Amino acid sequence: MALKVLALGGDGIGPEVVDASLKVLEVASASIGLAVDLSEDLLHGAAWDRYGTFIRPQTLDMARHSDALLVGAVGGPQWDHIVISGGPEEQDGLMKLRHELDVFASIRHARSWEVLLDQTPFSPGRVRGADMVVMRELCGGAMFARTRGMEIRANGSRRGYDLNEYSSEEIARFARIGFEVARRRKGQVVSVDKSNVFMAGKLWREVVGEVANSEFPDVELTHLYSDFASYRMCCHPTSFDVILADNLFGDLLSDQAGAIAGSLGMLASASLPDLPGDGCVQGTAIYEPVHGSAPDIAGQGTANPIGMILSMAMMLQYSAGAVSCAKKIEAAVEAALNAGFATQDIGGRQGTGEMTDAIIRQFRSL
Ligand code: NAD
Repeated sequence: MALKVLALGGDGIGPEVVDASLKVLEVASASIGLAVDLSEDLLHGAAWDRYGTFIRPQTLDMARHSDALLVGAVGGPQWDHIVISGGPEEQDGLMKLRHELDVFASIRHARSWEVLLDQTPFSPGRVRGADMVVMRELCGGAMFARTRGMEIRANGSRRGYDLNEYSSEEIARFARIGFEVARRRKGQVVSVDKSNVFMAGKLWREVVGEVANSEFPDVELTHLYSDFASYRMCCHPTSFDVILADNLFGDLLSDQAGAIAGSLGMLASASLPDLPGDGCVQGTAIYEPVHGSAPDIAGQGTANPIGMILSMAMMLQYSAGAVSCAKKIEAAVEAALNAGFATQDIGGRQGTGEMTDAIIRQFRSL
């Protein structure tokens, strides 16, 4: 059975990095005899410019019938003013996909790379060996606030609001996947919240603790307030294994983790609707880099493709069960970096295409 993949480049550098990942996918899938049934479509701004909608019903249908989506990134100032009636998911093609596919568990891997230590803001001794997963809850909280709005009050001042709410079910299903991920790593979870201030944070801490006690007694759980977790990530990045965070704190902490890798362009993610014990996802998953559409460098051929290529490797791991092939792609990335290839964001001169070709050469030689 072929792996059904829908590639959605999106906006800005999104199509450039998705194309790069498809070149690597072609070589990697052939090396393990994996058939890939590939479709492509437009998303968000690119879809708006062509069809007048952020996502077509046909695209949603294709997504639902795919095993995996490879998504570049979406957004740009030219589409920011567009307001569609309905919830937050209607304002953004990617958020609509996350919502419809219910990919609530975003696994965001960040590690240090020996050859890029001097590209980080850390002294090498502090960051060497850092390797963490920031788990971001992706379908709830303030980002998907049902109660939200902007209004003008009687005195003429304006009020904007987005209700941050979580149910115990939403927290528990997310925590379970986080603990599963930790079980396959060092077995250490730091759950991040603001339970000293927010009611949603109190519930977060309670439910994560309940799931840990009843189902994952073998995993070590520590609770940290989000502000201290952020500070600790700066000062002791090697002390983290798996971080569990809600949609908003996870958004912040996963970008912050980019500093450990040397660039936001290095970070990959898998957004999953489940994670059964065998490690192979049943529903449709989205694989996307952590970075955005980077309008400042779009069209220049300078974008770092590594975050997207490693996201594609996560697809091979979680949606195709091809764990060793995924590891080989990561090894090829490391070998290409060690051989001196680097895009501008990590201190080099290579363009997106040269970086991709170097990774493919290394993959073939491993
Ligand atoms: P961004 O991640 O796009 O860019 C931040 C900085 O990092 C920029 O200087 C950019 O050039 C650089 N950068 C990012 N990825 C890079 C890569 N692969 N190679 C080299 N440099 C890279 O964040 P932003 O500037 O805050 O947002 C730009 C747009 O992206 C906005 O419209 C925002 O809404 C959108 N966005 C989308 C997603 C997503 O689709 N998942 C995520 C974040 C932001």
